[in-house]
Amino acid sequence: MNSILNADLHCHSVVSDGTLTPEALAARAKANGVELWALTDHDEIGGQQRAAAAAQAQGMHYLTGVEISVTFIGHTVHIVGLGFDADNLALKNGLIQTRGGRGQRAKDMAAGLAKAGILDAYEGALKFAGNHDLISRTHFARFLVESGVCRDTSEVFRKYLIEGKPGFVEHRWATLQDAVTWITQAGGMAVIAHPARYKFTANQEFALFTEFKGHGGQGVEVVTGSHSPAEYLIYAATAREFGLAASRGSDFHSPDESHTELGTLPYLPGQLTPVWEQLADRIQYAPHTTPEAKASTGD
Ligand code: AMP
Ligand code: MN
Ligand code: MN
Ligand code: MN
Repeated sequence: MNSILNADLHCHSVVSDGTLTPEALAARAKANGVELWALTDHDEIGGQQRAAAAAQAQGMHYLTGVEISVTFIGHTVHIVGLGFDADNLALKNGLIQTRGGRGQRAKDMAAGLAKAGILDAYEGALKFAGNHDLISRTHFARFLVESGVCRDTSEVFRKYLIEGKPGFVEHRWATLQDAVTWITQAGGMAVIAHPARYKFTANQEFALFTEFKGHGGQGVEVVTGSHSPAEYLIYAATAREFGLAASRGSDFHSPDESHTELGTLPYLPGQLTPVWEQLADRIQYAPHTTPEAKASTGD
């Protein structure tokens, strides 16, 4: 498998803050020509078995996936894990611990929104959460759109949910070292998600990449729905500079909200090592024929 592969290694289901089931995502990925897929729910791997089974049924190769929330120098950073053993206990416990604070955080967010005149936001957001352990800002955003407070979820984030706004609550997630260690000790590869999103200074970004590598991190997202084409090239250069493998993923959440559809991003730029090359022995390969094809040939 070389860099010309329709791999989509970043998206979300109802198990975190997406609106589609793992099965519906698998069907959508397949329809868009995805060859290698990973479901990467936030802080949660409860959807992995369903996703792997759905990928198998659709005839797609599959890598296990997760997107872990990390606090690094006071900022939230996301670390994607790929190709780990989803039964690994240390990883499972680490994720339980990471998502554990979300319930209280959500209540604090609702209290902040109540002061701004938006009542019952906790209950409202919870209705949108497919997994009550994984209540996120996205669920609040959907509730505020439903109640007519804002036109779309980007407006909700801008006005209510980012730092300095009424629904924002400081939160301490996992450490960078813990997240990278949980993933790598479970046999997977840690990947810095959408680095352009963090708005770090050059020094802060250098610290992130250096410490990430020091902890055993091996990859970075280069082509993602969160990057512009100019940023693909910037982070392709960063990947080469730090000797990191390159990943590609849409970060698809919902047909109604996501700008980037599953499997539709450009291929990775050249002269990079794709993460799937290093993860070849962690891929759950699709059977050569789909069940339908087998049935039609009488096999
Ligand atoms: P949380 O983990 O609860 O802080 O929620 C983070 C999620 O909010 C991200 O994974 C995105 O899905 C979503 N998000 C963050 N910023 C924005 C934004 N500006 N517009 C829309 N969704 C956003
Ligand atoms: Mn999300
Ligand atoms: Mn993210
Ligand atoms: Mn994501």
